[in-house]
Amino acid sequence: MYSIRTSRGAVSFPRFVGPFINGKFQPSLSPSERQIFNPCTEELLETVNEASPEDVDLAVKSAQAALKGPWKEFSGRKRRNVLLDIAKALENSLWELTVLEAACGKPLNEAKFDIEDSIECFRYFAGHADKLHGQNFATEDNFKSFTVRKPIGVCGLITSFNYPLLLSAWKIAPALACGNTIVLKPAPQTPLSSLLLGDLISKHSNLPEGVFNVLPGGEAVGSAIANHTGINKVSFTGSGNVGRKVMTSAANSNIKPITLELGGKSPLLVFADADLDQAVEDVFGAIFSNMGQNCCAGSRLFLEKGIEDSFLSKLKTRVEQVKIGDSLDEAYNFGTMVDRVQFERVTKFIENARREGQADLLVGGKRHGDKGYFIEPTVFYNVQETSSLAREEIFGPVLSVMKPFSSIEEALERANATPYGLASGVWTRDSSKAEHCVQELETGVTWVNCYNLCSTHLPFGGVKQSGFGKDLGTESLNEYTTVKAVTMRV
Ligand code: NAD
Repeated sequence: MYSIRTSRGAVSFPRFVGPFINGKFQPSLSPSERQIFNPCTEELLETVNEASPEDVDLAVKSAQAALKGPWKEFSGRKRRNVLLDIAKALENSLWELTVLEAACGKPLNEAKFDIEDSIECFRYFAGHADKLHGQNFATEDNFKSFTVRKPIGVCGLITSFNYPLLLSAWKIAPALACGNTIVLKPAPQTPLSSLLLGDLISKHSNLPEGVFNVLPGGEAVGSAIANHTGINKVSFTGSGNVGRKVMTSAANSNIKPITLELGGKSPLLVFADADLDQAVEDVFGAIFSNMGQNCCAGSRLFLEKGIEDSFLSKLKTRVEQVKIGDSLDEAYNFGTMVDRVQFERVTKFIENARREGQADLLVGGKRHGDKGYFIEPTVFYNVQETSSLAREEIFGPVLSVMKPFSSIEEALERANATPYGLASGVWTRDSSKAEHCVQELETGVTWVNCYNLCSTHLPFGGVKQSGFGKDLGTESLNEYTTVKAVTMRV
């Protein structure tokens, strides 16, 4: 056992000997350890026994065997019940899972929200498990034509560090609802909640052995999954650079279909007629939730000419209310970067921006304290359009307020001037203006007078270089099924 200290007392967790394969934790075929540090204290949290590429092969064989085993005979209703059991098991371990996510530097209240959303995701897709169907077509006389929806097979699910359990749930739940088997690889920085999920599933659901496998590890394991010819589908969440590698691996191995959920540089457009207090609160959440480690982070703010001074003064006041500190202490609502690498990366963006005069600093810009990977919520304004602040995904608590815009067309053109296309936000009281923006913004998600509301009902995913394919909603069922067309002479 290992334990994690919180403001409500210490919580104990089981220690696992290696990856979760074929229904049990087992030592890796080629063992290696990774130390996970508490990013608030820089103290050792746990040492994880990681998987190796050889374990990928073992897990794929288990997942392939499970596809042909009892899981194949599970009706939609039985799969629904499994998903409901998993949701219940997560609910019964809500606090433990919350603590594991918060131990990655995320404030407890945000971590709890992520776990509740993960539970909701399993319940939502449980509702789909017994409602998958094909279509009938009136084609020629004497022929009957219809489609059959079938599971796609073994799904390799590779996720990023920022919402460890939630992003995995977005993929696991629809994959299971559709009758697939899974090899999950969580991010190397944040594998603990996924390992606990394996434990909970084995103890509290009757999911057959081999249907769900968890392989903690880094690039070598991810690459082995993307390249494996026994894997029929990869759903990937992470950076564009790694997404490109996954696409190449998929093409060069067995031309497996992939879903890519990649990065963003999301624009926020605030018009002068907006409810500015609401907009300030939403913009604050858009960039600073999860300390900016959010693919949808609204990192480029465009304000209509005339409101800059009042908006920035309100935003500065809001930022100064933040309570930065230990993510495992409920007294604080702003935590850390996930690890030293991410801390150094974000710090470099801030230092370069200041050294190169890319913008003026409104608030923040420094490390908080001298221990842990805390970075103050930071706002730059008058940001130059061609600077790294304006163009690159920082993935940290850094907002770039661009020079103000004078017309809706100018705002849209500048908002769209990026290779990314994940999310965008618009604040206005004028519904025709809002609808025009919704039509013209080149992003997979647009929020109007709100931000970051990801309902399990709605498809989530980007356009342009933010990727393709969808997580969530009925759209995601297409990612985990194949459709066979049948024509019968009758
Ligand atoms: P990353 O790309 O560094 O890693 C993502 C995952 O890929 C990890 O599990 C990693 O171990 C694995 N990996 C590394 N090399 C691999 C390879 N060659 N083949 C296969 N897998 C490999 O991303 P990160 O730093 O964990 O997360 C941050 C990025 O993720 C940001 O760009 C962010 O915008 C993006 N993201 C996107 C979404 C979305 O839904 N669009 C959601 C969250 C995060």
